[in-house]
Amino acid sequence: MENDKHTYQVIIVGGGPAGIATAITLHARGIRCCVVEAQETPIRKSGEAIPPNAKPLLKQLGILSLIEDEKHQIYYGNKSCWGSDQLDQKEFISDRLGHGFLLDRLHFETQLQELYQSTNNTFYKGFKLKKVVSGETKIKAIIENSSESKTLTSDFIIDATGRKASVCRHFNIQKENLDTQFACTFNVKTSDKIPNQISVEATENGWWYVAPYTENEVTMMFFTLKKLLPKKEQTKTFLQDELQKTIHLSKLFNTIQIDTVKIMPAGTSCLQIPYGKNWLAVGDAAYSYDPISSYGITSALASGFYGGHAVADYLNGKQEAFPTYRYVVENAFRAYMEKLVVQYQLEKRWELSDYWANRLSYEEAQAKF
Ligand SMILES: Cc1cc2nc3c(=O)[nH]c(=O)nc-3n(C[C@H](O)[C@H](O)[C@H](O)COP(=O)(O)OP(=O)(O)OC[C@H]3O[C@@H](n4cnc5c(N)ncnc54)[C@H](O)[C@@H]3O)c2cc1C
Repeated sequence: MENDKHTYQVIIVGGGPAGIATAITLHARGIRCCVVEAQETPIRKSGEAIPPNAKPLLKQLGILSLIEDEKHQIYYGNKSCWGSDQLDQKEFISDRLGHGFLLDRLHFETQLQELYQSTNNTFYKGFKLKKVVSGETKIKAIIENSSESKTLTSDFIIDATGRKASVCRHFNIQKENLDTQFACTFNVKTSDKIPNQISVEATENGWWYVAPYTENEVTMMFFTLKKLLPKKEQTKTFLQDELQKTIHLSKLFNTIQIDTVKIMPAGTSCLQIPYGKNWLAVGDAAYSYDPISSYGITSALASGFYGGHAVADYLNGKQEAFPTYRYVVENAFRAYMEKLVVQYQLEKRWELSDYWANRLSYEEAQAKF
């Protein structure tokens, strides 16, 4: 029967870190699942830094070895100009967990998808979720690629679609945006030797992030408010001007050639409750982290792990599985919010500028959680 081929206990929409961590966990618990991923092959996404304190979790997930692959780089510390004109250096050598990792993100997404494919569960690659209908007991998901449409049936659906939270949108559930920070990201070639470090520098209109990409190429990102961004055709000039306003980075990157700039939302957002009848959200679909935390990928993997166990428990009759999941992920998010407020409050040089006046205060963060 055609339909039986497309019947699962759980459909996971989104094949990024959160979706794959969920799928691997469900597979290990003996749950029949499938993954639906809009991209035919992995694309290069923004976000590569994994801090040293993520290692215990990566070990627990069984994927530390993927990150130790030689295609990923090691980084030994951060340089930051934040809160004063001085450049501070933090070396991880004194950290008991040692160095962090700078992922080759495309390779990492490929590694994760290969790991999932080794479980022999179904992978609908290049298929986009078009519609979800939640019936009394079953979920129907209609997925499409350029040439065909399929109807999948399941007991449960997972939203692992990233910031857009596409499954939640089908259920008319909106994420709350706690700020309107945007990122402009681009790569720059340089003839200078690039240290294995991340550099961060605050300016009046936001902050810069620079990380090594290859031996002679860096990834640069400027984080600012959406309303401070100019018209598209003026973006490169705007970024050149903003770089000139830095005290330290402008010395290292005096003249830069900017080719393609990607602009995307990069603020904090969250669902009020990360689950409902027949659905649960993991990764950025549930909680999106400000990149200053370098916590998005780790959190996506962790929520996939805890979310996968919660769904397996629920399908095995444990009603308390979802409140427990919510408790774990909400606690992590609350701890992040507290650190985020402290981090932004350290910067007092431009308190009245639009960007810094827009940062969440402790009271606002507390009112949200
Ligand atoms: C500028 C920037 C810098 C960042 N820097 C860092 C960093 O240094 N360190 C860090 O840890 N994190 C960083 N992050 C965050 C990190 O990239 C995300 O938290 C992480 O990718 C979340 O993983 P995810 O699996 O939840 O979502 P995603 O990685 O976004 O995966 C979602 C997947 O769902 C698929 N999808 C979406 N809609 C559909 C649909 N309708 N049908 C089928 N498939 C669909 C997409 O194609 C995608 O593959 C950064 C983010 C930004 C924007």
